Amino acid sequence: MRTMVGTLVAGLLLLASCAGSPQQREVEATTPNILFIFTDDHASHAIGAYGSRFPGDNTPHLDQLAAEGMRFSRCAVTNSICAPSRAVILTGKYSHLNGVLTNAERFDGAQVTFPKLLQEQGYQTALFGKWHLKSEPTGFDHYERLIGQGPYYNPKMRFPDDSKQGFGERLHEGYTTDVITDLAIDWLKGREEGSGPFMAMVQHKAPHRHWQPAPRHLDLFADIEIAEPSNLFDDYSTRGTAAHIQDMEIATTLTPHDLKLAPQGRFNADQQKLWDAAYEPRNAAFQQKKAEMSEEEIVRWKYQRYLKDYLRCIRAVDENIGRLLETLDELDLSRGTIVIYSSDQGFFLGEHGWFDKRFMYEECYRTPLIVRWPGVTDPGQVNDQLVSNVDYAQTFLDIAGFSENREEVQQMQGISLKPLLQGEDVPVRKSHYYQYYEYHPDRKTAHMVRRHRGVATGRYKLIHFYNLDEWELYDLKEDPHEMVNRIDDEELSHIRKDLAAELERLAKELKVPDDRGSVSRDPHRLIEGLKQR
Ligand code: CA
Repeated sequence: MRTMVGTLVAGLLLLASCAGSPQQREVEATTPNILFIFTDDHASHAIGAYGSRFPGDNTPHLDQLAAEGMRFSRCAVTNSICAPSRAVILTGKYSHLNGVLTNAERFDGAQVTFPKLLQEQGYQTALFGKWHLKSEPTGFDHYERLIGQGPYYNPKMRFPDDSKQGFGERLHEGYTTDVITDLAIDWLKGREEGSGPFMAMVQHKAPHRHWQPAPRHLDLFADIEIAEPSNLFDDYSTRGTAAHIQDMEIATTLTPHDLKLAPQGRFNADQQKLWDAAYEPRNAAFQQKKAEMSEEEIVRWKYQRYLKDYLRCIRAVDENIGRLLETLDELDLSRGTIVIYSSDQGFFLGEHGWFDKRFMYEECYRTPLIVRWPGVTDPGQVNDQLVSNVDYAQTFLDIAGFSENREEVQQMQGISLKPLLQGEDVPVRKSHYYQYYEYHPDRKTAHMVRRHRGVATGRYKLIHFYNLDEWELYDLKEDPHEMVNRIDDEELSHIRKDLAAELERLAKELKVPDDRGSVSRDPHRLIEGLKQR
């Protein structure tokens, strides 16, 4: 709670900066605050409200948020990988236009982003947590961010200052998910009255690999078996080369470090003690019986270890969402704040025998999207339309009253979801374009997933692994787990033809450079090629 002195200081500052001018007050009255809570690799099928196969009480605050707002059941990403998704969200443009095709490129902070346009609209903007775009954030009045991927424990974080290099760094002790929330809460509590509406992005590292849970969650799920997916032992029959030769299998790709069978590092003495007390006896039990276990039993053991740690990391995220929502209540901001929850993409949680993302298959092509907008969005709504992370920027700008006729918005490639949130039953899109680039033919790239592009509709999905020239076609109604490639099925030949035409139409509409057939072409050259046009 703000002290009297604090209030007095705030009042003086307010007078000095004219922050409470009638114009600004008008903006505040008509534009909601935007709180964007974002995670890394949180699959929607690990959220209770989405119908998770996992223990039902792991995400009570997210489930509550969904019960109070609108849950989008089919929010698709345009490129299922971390940095590219972030760049798409900031710019409202596909990877080939925002320049971040893979995790390797540096985001060009000079380009138009929705936080910059919100600033222009009178919003105070802030970012806390994971950024992952290499360049320093632009368009934020304040930020404190993780450096690179950031660790789960005791993170060093970077903030803007007046030094020559433009930023300072400080080390925080504690669990990163808690630290990021602490920073956001302190900032919310420290805001001066009359400083206008805010847009805050609270972005967690969790539940990204290597899935290190908080000390308080190390024993969670210790005595239960996590349900397996039906296709944990998928043999990829009917699927193409790409599914057979990826490097993201629970059986073979997970490392001793991932599985907590090797030292983890970065802990302080107390954290280390708690960690060892939890994992050492479990590891000893595994090592003792390992020699007698079949290959299949070992995969099952790895699956349990991976999923339990993943779900434990999510428990901390959910608790911290609860803390943030409580803070909004305390500050009497809940009514005037739209809360959005999403992740940079989904994740494989043992489906097809995998972890990680990248493929245009549903588990990671879909990402969670939950929006609570008190007084506007009816509670408990589920929207089944095909929406996308490329829609977020325009949605936020529309909510903030930014004109859709402005050139910056016209150049964006998404669709505002505001009408849906207001309860209007309007069609958003009949099809959605996807393209994944992070594969280099001349060297080993993370997880070795081949480049592909594809189109999804409400029911069908056509994928082209264009460097292999292999196609896959799925009927999601008949085959929701994408186990049967129907590309050669005569019965669906007309669907294949229509979708192939739709893929070309979308590629043209979205100005996607054509790199099919350029097997050895480095995706980085695509950007240069585009700039020369
Ligand atoms: Ca990610």
